[in-house]
Amino acid sequence: CGFTKADIRALSRYLGLSVWEKPSYACLASRFVYGERITAEKLKMVDRAEQLLLDMGFRQMRVRIHGSLARIEVEPDGFERLMKEENRLEIVREFKKYGFAYVTLAGIQDGKHERDNRQKKCTGMSLYKKYRRKKVKITEILKNNKRTLSFEVFPPKTDSDFEAVREAAYKVAALKPAFMSVTCGAGGSTCGNTLAIAAGIQNTYGVAATSHLTCVGATRQSILSALDDMRAAGIENIFALRGDRPDWMEGEPFKEYRYASELAETINEYGGFCIGGACYPEGHPDSATIEEDIVNLKKKVDAGCEFLTTQMFFDNNIFYEFMERVRQAGIEVPVIAGIMPVTRASQLENAVKLSGCNMPLKLKRIADSFGDSREAMQQAGIIYATEQIVDLYANGIKNVHVYSMNNAEAAGAILNNLSDILK
Ligand code: FAD
Repeated sequence: CGFTKADIRALSRYLGLSVWEKPSYACLASRFVYGERITAEKLKMVDRAEQLLLDMGFRQMRVRIHGSLARIEVEPDGFERLMKEENRLEIVREFKKYGFAYVTLAGIQDGKHERDNRQKKCTGMSLYKKYRRKKVKITEILKNNKRTLSFEVFPPKTDSDFEAVREAAYKVAALKPAFMSVTCGAGGSTCGNTLAIAAGIQNTYGVAATSHLTCVGATRQSILSALDDMRAAGIENIFALRGDRPDWMEGEPFKEYRYASELAETINEYGGFCIGGACYPEGHPDSATIEEDIVNLKKKVDAGCEFLTTQMFFDNNIFYEFMERVRQAGIEVPVIAGIMPVTRASQLENAVKLSGCNMPLKLKRIADSFGDSREAMQQAGIIYATEQIVDLYANGIKNVHVYSMNNAEAAGAILNNLSDILK
């Protein structure tokens, strides 16, 4: 902002603040927040963060916020203390409670940034040099006209299972699929965790991610605020969904938003996001006919959905017939085929119950024969899904999304089976 070091020195004296002044670095300590978007919520987080560090005895510090990443810089004398294992662990633990997805600790020593190279030991912290942001729109990936395989993961439902579920989702990200999607729980109950996992996948693994957003019980204000958070976290892609009424919800769940198309309209108006939407090769259960469902699907695309992902299906012929109807209806956006590897027999029962999808006799026999053994069912499920995907690619379908259910072993096996096909 045009200040010289002398100005900063004078200003800091006037404000009663201290200055770090080293050959390559000078800045005012405390209360300086940098970031793409500063929200009231973030400022509160910074306040709490500063308080924690004050309580730990640090007297000069700066917290910088970039999307979901918080970088804490301390005065040169505090560096050693900051890097002490127990202090780092405490800071990371506390900051995670405040809702920061990542905490990177940096120190300024002799005018140079010193980074902590031992951070690997400390879960929940990203290595500074590992911080990579892959801000890519899904449509950019799809337009390459290459075969893609992408994975869906789900977020932690509660804070207590955050670590374990995140770990599982990250193992899927480590496979480096074309992109990933992160679902959100019924009634938007996992919204914060969805965002944290999606941002983490982008930042830590460099894999583009789509964050799911439902509009159950939503108001325009709540959606705009969710979009602000997504923007601040560096999310580029949103999968816009109506969602379903959760068991615990009372009253009318769809007041201001009745359909996903209305949500897509708001996101489109807000601007800057690539929007995806769901489609149903066997028709959505609420629709009287598949024709009616496709008419409504067109409305969703007209409202701003730039790509569609299908509900899982186990019979490719159903998908091929659906694609003919979709194209005849004038829907031109890319349609990604959703495939679920059935790794447990109970998964198949749930899928059929929840989505009403058709279960081919071949798959039923597989579940009947191998369902009692976890290993055998997983192996058979991976083979069945792989065959489905090979058939899709052979029939000119370029993009397949696998519902990984956070099972990196199954996702990795499918990716491996297709390694030459995807080259
Ligand atoms: P909509 O597109 O709004 O459609 C719902 C029904 O309304 C359909 O019958 C449709 O034909 C009809 N309809 C749509 N627009 C109109 C209109 N303008 N006028 C009249 N009728 C209309 N659920 C979650 O809670 N979290 C998730 O993360 C999640 N991810 C999903 C991912 C995929 C790929 C799929 C296929 C589903 C996912 N779901 C998720 C489930 C989804 O929320 C439910 O299937 C829900 O019932 C419908 O959501 P939708 O966005 O498809 O709704």
